[in-house]
Amino acid sequence: MLIASNVTKTFGKLKALDNVSVTCNKGQTIALIGPNGSGKTTLIKTMLGMVVPDSGFITFDQHNILHSWHYRERIGYMPQIGRYPDNMTIAQVMDMMKDIRKSNVLDEDLVKEFKLPALAQKKMRTLSGGTRQKVSASLAFLFNPDVLILDEPTAGLDPLSSEILKQKIIAEKEKGKLILITSHILSELDDLVTEVIYMQDGKLQFHKSIEQLQQDTGQVKLTQAIAHVM
Ligand code: ADP
Repeated sequence: MLIASNVTKTFGKLKALDNVSVTCNKGQTIALIGPNGSGKTTLIKTMLGMVVPDSGFITFDQHNILHSWHYRERIGYMPQIGRYPDNMTIAQVMDMMKDIRKSNVLDEDLVKEFKLPALAQKKMRTLSGGTRQKVSASLAFLFNPDVLILDEPTAGLDPLSSEILKQKIIAEKEKGKLILITSHILSELDDLVTEVIYMQDGKLQFHKSIEQLQQDTGQVKLTQAIAHVM
């Protein structure tokens, strides 16, 4: 469904992605993990068409993501740090996104659960980091995307909000959507993910099902299994 084929991306002399090929299918919930600087965010951004690879390409249902805005629109993205116009209110940011997407099928579960309507007239620059994260999360799910790409989704969220988000991710997983998540808190990915993509130094080290990883490492928990392969 979402496929990276031989993707290489360099920044100056640094190879952020080195000939990475991965196939992500509908119904999979994938943990994208690896040390800092291993290329996870760059891979995500190439999948979204935000970073153009030097070579290789990304396809979504056989369409090159760089050439097809329609397919890019079917991906909900929660960035590590959401950047929004400082002087816009939450309501204005949401309306702007609705205008861009022109989507009628809105999923406002998170908007409501995070109680954002009460904060709708607050300007983005006045929001705490946690509230910004709630806006980012709500926007990622708002247009009922087929694919969710969540980059450190719980970073900066309080425990209750993290739990709300986790439950929402589980609900979307149960609908059979493709979900790709990075997190440095591996324990929160336990019981959630079906696959692991492990990156190091811009290279894909492996892409395995959880069962395969457990079998290969003899470890049940993701934290221990990953410690085993590092
Ligand atoms: P991760 O998400 O695994 O921490 P990144 O994909 O953010 O890794 O970064 C991979 C490498 O590419 C890092 O060494 C990072 O400093 C570098 N990098 C990422 N984006 C840029 C950029 N826009 N300009 C220069 N270097 C970058």
